Formats: sequence, structure tokens, C-alpha cells
Amino acid sequence: MEVKQAEFIISNSDPTRCPKPDKPEYAFIGRSNVGKSSLINMLTTRHKLAKTSQTPGKTQLINHFLINTDWYLVDLPGYGFAKAPQREREKWEKMIDAYLTERPNLICTFVLVDGRIDPQRIDLEFMAKMGERGLPFVIIFTKNEKSSTNAISQMVKKYSQTLKQTWDELPPMFVSSAVNSRGKEEILDYIDQLNKEFYEEMKAKRD
Ligand code: GDP
Repeated sequence: MEVKQAEFIISNSDPTRCPKPDKPEYAFIGRSNVGKSSLINMLTTRHKLAKTSQTPGKTQLINHFLINTDWYLVDLPGYGFAKAPQREREKWEKMIDAYLTERPNLICTFVLVDGRIDPQRIDLEFMAKMGERGLPFVIIFTKNEKSSTNAISQMVKKYSQTLKQTWDELPPMFVSSAVNSRGKEEILDYIDQLNKEFYEEMKAKRD
């Protein structure tokens, strides 16, 4: 899939005020500084669609972008910034929980993790929570412009070992880099495939 059009629609903290859920939707989330904004900009070929390196805690909103007039890309506020006060963190959790569990057109969530470091507890905890709620997710390893095939298979192995303790099936995984656009085609093709399934199902329901 080629991203021909990417348009900002709305930012809000209330999941009930998100756009009408009539298009397939994909959320992007990860630890603050994981490279989420850079990845979104890389995928959409818009260098400033998502703002990079914003002050942690300042951007606690659900951001909707409409892509190719066909699907929503949702930039969710990052987790795990050490300086955020407890109250702020609780607010984040409540909002994200409500969004993830109540959004009827959310097809899957892309959980971003830094591919250059070992699995972090906070990321694994987030994935475990997704599992408890039965919410499908995909892992994207970020900042991997330089990693060798061997390093990547080691990394996948490390996550797999931990995830297998709570999951029967492993989530799909993608390797990416905003620096050299690694993974762009694979991620967009994956979304494209799910979009087709969404619209086919919608059509079947209508017929
Ligand atoms: P966010 O807080 O998750 O939205 O992260 P940003 O996209 O703002 O990126 C955080 C930092 O990581 C910035 O200094 C980026 O330049 C850097 N970064 C983001 N993506 C990549 C990448 O693919 N490779 C490398 N080497 N650095 C990256």
C-alpha cells in the first residue's frame, strides 16, 4: 500500500468523541521515546504528521489521522516516562484502557519496542495486559537500521520466550527503522490486508 493522503482529524482524551467507527483503525503505542512519532511519519511519508520528541507528559491525547480516506491511524500517548506524577499516570491508564476496550473498529494495536535493548518489564506488562483483555496486538521493533539478521533473531527469541509464558500464539512481529524506512512496506501491506478483510466483512454483512 502506498500512503497518498494523510490528514489530521482530531485529538481528544475522551474515547467516545473519536471519529465515527466506520473505518478500520490501527493504534500505535509504546514507551515514551521509543520512536513512535518517527515511525508514524516514516509510514505516512509526512515528516511532521506526528510531532517528534515532545516533552513527555505534555501530549496525553488520542490523535486520529485519516489515511487514504480509508483507515484511521491512531497515535496514542506513550507510557513509562519516569517524571510523570502518579495522578497523570492513572489518568493515562484510564483513558487508554477505555479507548482500547471500547473502540469497536480497532483492528489491532502496534506495540513499539526498542529493538536494540533487552525486553523491558514495562513493555511486557503492557503486552500481558493486552492478553488479559483479549486485545490483538503486533510488535514493532524500532531503531533497527543497523541490526544484523542474527541480532534480530536473537531479539525475537527473547521476546518469544517471555510471551510464550502467557500466550499460546505469538503476535506478528516487524522490524523497523525510521532512519532507512526498514519495515515500511511490510507494515503497510499488513494493514492493507486487514483493511481488505474489514471491508469484505462489512460488504458481506450488508448483502
Ligand atoms: P516517541 O517519543 O516515541 O514519539 O519517539 P521519537 O520519534 O520522538 O524518537 C525519539 C528519539 O529516537 C529521537 O531522538 C529520534 O531521533 C530517535 N529515533 C526515532 N526513530 C529512530 C530510528 O529508527 N533509528 C534511530 N537510530 N533513532 C531513532
